[in-house]
Amino acid sequence: MKTEKIKMRAGWLIDGTGAPARRNVIIKIENGIIQSLSDAEFYNVDQNGITDFSAFTIIPGLIDSHVHLCMSGAHDQKIRQKQLKSTFADAEHVISAHLRQLFLSGVVAVRDGGDYGAYALRYKKKQQDKKNSIVEMKTAGQAWHNHGRYGKFMGRAPSEGKTLAEEILYMDKSIDHVKIINSGLNSLKEFGKETLPQFNLNDLKNTVNAASSLGLKVMAHANGRLPVKIAIEAGCASIEHGFFMGEKNLALMAEKKITWVPTACTMKAYAEHLSKDRIHQDSIEAAILKKILEDQLRQLAMAKALGVTVAVGTDSGSPGVHHGSSIIEELKLFMQAGFSLEETLKASVLNGAKLLGLNKTGPIIKGNKALFIVVDGSPGGLPESLNKIKAVYTSQGCSRRKAGHLEISKS
Ligand SMILES: [Zn+2]
Repeated sequence: MKTEKIKMRAGWLIDGTGAPARRNVIIKIENGIIQSLSDAEFYNVDQNGITDFSAFTIIPGLIDSHVHLCMSGAHDQKIRQKQLKSTFADAEHVISAHLRQLFLSGVVAVRDGGDYGAYALRYKKKQQDKKNSIVEMKTAGQAWHNHGRYGKFMGRAPSEGKTLAEEILYMDKSIDHVKIINSGLNSLKEFGKETLPQFNLNDLKNTVNAASSLGLKVMAHANGRLPVKIAIEAGCASIEHGFFMGEKNLALMAEKKITWVPTACTMKAYAEHLSKDRIHQDSIEAAILKKILEDQLRQLAMAKALGVTVAVGTDSGSPGVHHGSSIIEELKLFMQAGFSLEETLKASVLNGAKLLGLNKTGPIIKGNKALFIVVDGSPGGLPESLNKIKAVYTSQGCSRRKAGHLEISKS
């Protein structure tokens, strides 16, 4: 095989490990793998063969740690209902379009939280056969909820007479992680109203043990103090949403090294939707949504202070939360909560890669795949400049495109 060597100069580089942005960096890539990163000043630049991005910032491909690929961000109930009853043939087109949208926004890997027909999983298996997926997918197949409780649209409840742990041991082994729903949704009538846990501590502990015997981590949808506490004590790998979980749970997560995916942009998207509507703009729901968002940002600031590992997930597929573009909103909210740009990108890239169990994908460091985004200007324009990505750089094996090609320019 012919060795393909590429050299490029980045005006600015943020590597996604949390390290400060660097100025004028030469990146050397060989066969799609990063070989070295050096300061341009100390590098004997032979101008030939260098791709010049001096006026651009290079950041790693982003990771969205919480999506539902089967659903779009449409508010229209007719569209949502149709998507919830779709056949695999219909869902296949929807998923393809969402992956394309994600890629155009610079997202290179996603963690899917499940759908009722396990269509994202089926899609992934089919794509693996073709070896042409543009975004790396990790999926739960179907999420698990309890009988008569919230979550039917994204999964199923254990069959009669079977415990959740038993179900886990006998389900489709090709999933990447187990998704459990352990609470309800946020109330838009009463701020901070908590729902009861869906599973008790013993059930969840057995479930986590069953999953780990198969080498799988558990992601837990949980809002409110008790549902989150149970998920933490049971040993789940991540808490999804975690609205109103409180400081004690956050401290416990820091101690047990459990990752939090706050999905704050869901509340912002819904609040913005209501604000466009004359009837609802001054409603109780609109005021409550605003309060929930503020509270979540306060919790996020607390998580930073306590040293909780946080990851960027959007819950795209929820009303108003669109695949791809919503990650820019979530990055902005992290920064609004007090995270620096570098810390925010670390949450998406390094923490996301660990959560998804990715190999050689993530930060721009020696030995990792060359998988990154080129945006106009200095880092000062981020995350807004992600709206007009200049190029997404992918290494070989990532798609049908050849290694080393700069592709899809949105401008
Ligand atoms: Zn979700």
